[in-house]
Amino acid sequence: MKNMEVYLDNGSTTKTDAEVLEKMKPYFLEKYGNPASLHKKGKEAKTVINKSKRTIADTLNAGKKEIIFTSGGTESDNLALKGTVYANRDKGKHIITTKIEHDAVLKSTKWLEKQGFKVTYLDVDEEGFIDQEQLKEEINEETILVSTIHGNNEIGTIQDLKTLAEITHDYGENTYFHTDACQSYTKTEIDVEKQDLDLLTINSHKIHGPKGIGALYIKKGVKIQPWQHGGGHERGMRSGTLNVHGAVGFAEAAKRNYEDREENIDKMTELRDKLIKEILKIKNTKLNGPKGEKRLSNNINICFDNIEGEALAGYLNRKGIYASTGSACSSLELEPSHVLTAIGLTAQEANSSLRMTTSKYTTQKEIEYVIKELPDIVKRLRDMSPL
Ligand SMILES: *Cc1c(COP(=O)(O)O)cnc(C)c1O
Repeated sequence: MKNMEVYLDNGSTTKTDAEVLEKMKPYFLEKYGNPASLHKKGKEAKTVINKSKRTIADTLNAGKKEIIFTSGGTESDNLALKGTVYANRDKGKHIITTKIEHDAVLKSTKWLEKQGFKVTYLDVDEEGFIDQEQLKEEINEETILVSTIHGNNEIGTIQDLKTLAEITHDYGENTYFHTDACQSYTKTEIDVEKQDLDLLTINSHKIHGPKGIGALYIKKGVKIQPWQHGGGHERGMRSGTLNVHGAVGFAEAAKRNYEDREENIDKMTELRDKLIKEILKIKNTKLNGPKGEKRLSNNINICFDNIEGEALAGYLNRKGIYASTGSACSSLELEPSHVLTAIGLTAQEANSSLRMTTSKYTTQKEIEYVIKELPDIVKRLRDMSPL
């Protein structure tokens, strides 16, 4: 019998919805105009860009003009951080973020430190929740930006954005709050009004849309400067010919996955909990990240004592099961995951961990296949292990 294929790496990227691809096609073949052009083909493209922004804005309770398109989550994070701190550096040079950010934020703040900004990295507890008391202590009159991830890409912890943003704004109206919501978008509630957000990063390829397009929500009135210069697109905030077909696909994915979110979340939560329960029956395993409700519905991260996570992923790969260690972005590095060490794992435990991320397409049958194959692989690897 042919091996089943089970894709459990949706935290890295997802399959594009077939309906999304269909919506994109005319914008390659017929409506291929440049939205900056003044003729009919340009107008057509400009109209659909505005419509796409409206669709995405509606899923966030934002205004259409508060959305700008970027090439993805990485670019949105870079623009949010560098754009606001440079525009506000006359007020102060202090930035607050956390120890469990995506590299798009962490590497940006590391770079900003070299440019003379001061960065505080907040601690998290053993489930990955940000230390709110520490935020209250660290925020000061020099602080211009607080940036925290919403749903963590490695361990699935969902932060209480409203409280974090309130602490930030209680301190000073002119201190901005940014969140990276690439993983949480359409998987838990996001409402820029209710949660009091100034900037928010989302992307398309984590929600069954095409790769290479993302958005940054910038609340009206936020002082920010562009980071990429050129023809002045996106009201000067992000130069470069707009990715029209990408925007159409992103908007369609946002609409579909936003509308179906409750059903998808319920289904994913059930499969997640079943997989976790069965894996934890294997001796010397433990769940990394939150045990309760505040966990992304598609995230499973397990520490398997005395096994290399990379080896485990390799053996699963041969069985057609695609999982990853940590985040895809850090898999080229040998360092233990900074997220897993931040929640208190030793380097060895971190390197013995495996992340499995499901999607709305994951089936009961696929989960059963993983449950059947995984214990044998773990046993074989442990028998081989010198530890
Ligand atoms: C995937 C991801 C990014 C990067 O997004 P790209 O569109 O791949 O550049 C940033 N932050 C988080 C939390 C992510 O999951």
